[in-house]
Amino acid sequence: MPRPINAVVHPDAIKHNLELVRSKAPESRVWAVVKANAYGHGIERIYRALAGADGIALLDLDEAIRVRECGWKKPVLLLEGVFTTSDVKVADEHALTVAVHCDEQRELIVAAKPKKPIDIYLKMNSGMNRLGFTPEHFRAAWQRSSASTGIGDIALMSHFANADEGDVDWQLDQFDEATRGIPGPRSLSNSAASLWHPRAHRDWIRPGIVLYGGSPTGQAKDIRDVPLRSSMTLSSQIIGVQTMRAGDTVGYARTYKADAEMRIGVVACGYADGYPRHAPTGTPIAVDGVMTRTVGRVSMDMLTVDLTPCPNAGIGSKVELWGEQVKIDDVASSSGTIGYELMCALARRVPVTASQ
Ligand SMILES: *Cc1c(COP(=O)(O)O)cnc(C)c1O
Repeated sequence: MPRPINAVVHPDAIKHNLELVRSKAPESRVWAVVKANAYGHGIERIYRALAGADGIALLDLDEAIRVRECGWKKPVLLLEGVFTTSDVKVADEHALTVAVHCDEQRELIVAAKPKKPIDIYLKMNSGMNRLGFTPEHFRAAWQRSSASTGIGDIALMSHFANADEGDVDWQLDQFDEATRGIPGPRSLSNSAASLWHPRAHRDWIRPGIVLYGGSPTGQAKDIRDVPLRSSMTLSSQIIGVQTMRAGDTVGYARTYKADAEMRIGVVACGYADGYPRHAPTGTPIAVDGVMTRTVGRVSMDMLTVDLTPCPNAGIGSKVELWGEQVKIDDVASSSGTIGYELMCALARRVPVTASQ
């Protein structure tokens, strides 16, 4: 018997979420963002859910090839573009669209002499200050690109720094000003802007986290009104039960002390499975469908839960670490992180299957 932990991913939930985000931006085409192996879900496992997208966006060349091997004929976008001449050859062979965020990348494409011109997403740094040409240099970058052999269609892209909490206008205005009169489709909106900033929708939106039912802000309350479905369930079982007396402590560093007699359950899930070690006492978790809380430190292979709300629970009881009942965003925010990180950090040793 393997340990009783497992994760189930739900392609139908992703399909539902994709339709939902499309309905929020009905005029736009949709790049489904599946970087980091579909936010930890496994590209092949959820591939069938993406049929309704207009394109697939990701970062790793090997993931782009895997998407083509799945049979995807529509566009594939490399969000960080290419790093070497041989990357350009792969992009050429698999008809990938590539971001170009600096002149070095444009030169790589030209130098590789692709057989078919490579379509590019020319990226503006409109205030995020990670990748892209500044607004002042953007027009010249576009001119050099459009005059370059080996470069095909040029789309214009940028990325928002705080579409989730603040406004996007300060970046959008710069973008619009610097791109005025330049032809080509525009793509700006991540999940947060897709949900909350219609002015930024433009020609192609690029939702990621909402496809997986996560909140762009990391706070479940912010998507309470958006009927997204959770696309990953992490489950395990109770493998041990202890009755603590008043004053007893549980786990490393003895961080939780019982006030009175209580039962605790030991769950086969720890930080080596991808559960956040920083989850403090009180992090939500469900046992046999009853919401309760973790108590004490998370160890490598186990964590402990308060069984007070579920007196009938015992060895073999089913535990939901996150999923439909326990919001991944609530586990994340309790642990000082965001749902994105928990999905991506699901450990290799956890067996994963797809529902249906
Ligand atoms: C990851 C990423 C996205 C998707 O972001 P979400 O917040 O997950 O929607 C969109 N655009 C770019 C350039 C990205 O890197």
